[in-house]
Amino acid sequence: MSSELPPIREDLVGVEPYGAPQLDVAVRLNTNETPVPPPPGFLEEVARRLPQLELNRYPDREALALREALAARDELDAAQVWVANGSNEVLLQLLQLYGGPGRTALIFRPGYSMYPELCRTTGTRAVVAPLPADGCLRVDGVEEAVGAHDPHLVLLANPNNPTGALVGLDVVRALHDAHRGLLVVDEAYIEFAPDGSSARSLLDELPRLVISRTFSKAFRLAGLRLGYLLAPAQVVEDLHKVRLPYHLDALTQLAGLVALEQEAAFLDQRRVTAQERERIAAHLRQLPGIEVVESAANFLLFVSPAPDTFGRLLDRGVLVRDVSSSVGTAGALRVTVGTTEENDHFLTAMDAVLSEQ
Ligand code: PMP
Repeated sequence: MSSELPPIREDLVGVEPYGAPQLDVAVRLNTNETPVPPPPGFLEEVARRLPQLELNRYPDREALALREALAARDELDAAQVWVANGSNEVLLQLLQLYGGPGRTALIFRPGYSMYPELCRTTGTRAVVAPLPADGCLRVDGVEEAVGAHDPHLVLLANPNNPTGALVGLDVVRALHDAHRGLLVVDEAYIEFAPDGSSARSLLDELPRLVISRTFSKAFRLAGLRLGYLLAPAQVVEDLHKVRLPYHLDALTQLAGLVALEQEAAFLDQRRVTAQERERIAAHLRQLPGIEVVESAANFLLFVSPAPDTFGRLLDRGVLVRDVSSSVGTAGALRVTVGTTEENDHFLTAMDAVLSEQ
């Protein structure tokens, strides 16, 4: 009998697990959460309804009440809505269904760093299209981006992460029409963008469009792990083939429902976030040699001329996201909009870092 563990998949040998550092520092601005807890009354209402849950039983496998509430919000049918453990799981399931060995996904660079990981895990070949220097895909750049790849799916984050760049619906439409596969528009940050930016308005028209969203960002519930998909009913029906049975637990289903009932209070913070984002951007732009990308999300990408800005911010108790060694964002850092106090702390630290260099 061998006492050695069998080898893991060859393509996973040497792979570093994905994840931003979770460091115990005073100001954590590295994972694009909303810095304020859910509104008062939310946890109380969840607690009030907890006794209704039969936790000895499996949850509703269809999560129907939650899907119906989400569907109503976007004027869809529950059959066109899917829910899962964070939008990462939604994206994973889409790749399990439409990707896989011998299949291709088109992704953009710079882009969300989980896309290549999800492609690798599902055995999907990822082809990477570089974005223009300003990070904005345009209609006349779509043909070239898709090229001859004939992808089975295209993943587009809008607004994009880590740049915050937002593309117009004309680009979404062009991207849909430029290939035969599924177009996944990842709207993790859409609530921070101007009204009317969502591809929802194209859903009835474009047959291969799906939209993924999350409760982790503007909905202030990153700790819950809840994401959802708006899609043609056929896609939702087919997703059942790859999901684990009872993949969404009863507590998350309940909390998601309560959050939707209190949506206005949850999303109130969006305006503050957008104002703070512009305040931070304006301050950074006044500092010598700093470049800041225009953002429609709750974070900003910037390039600092000071050596080791990341480490020197950390020395001052501020953790930002270091994307400086990623292709397409060389030398750049990404800062999440925090509370006013946290943002002040960050800006004071930046002033100090730059004046010292
Ligand atoms: N898409 C994008 C573009 C993201 O930035 C993130 C989280 N950072 C996600 C999806 C996944 O979020 P979650 O799994 O928390 O819904």
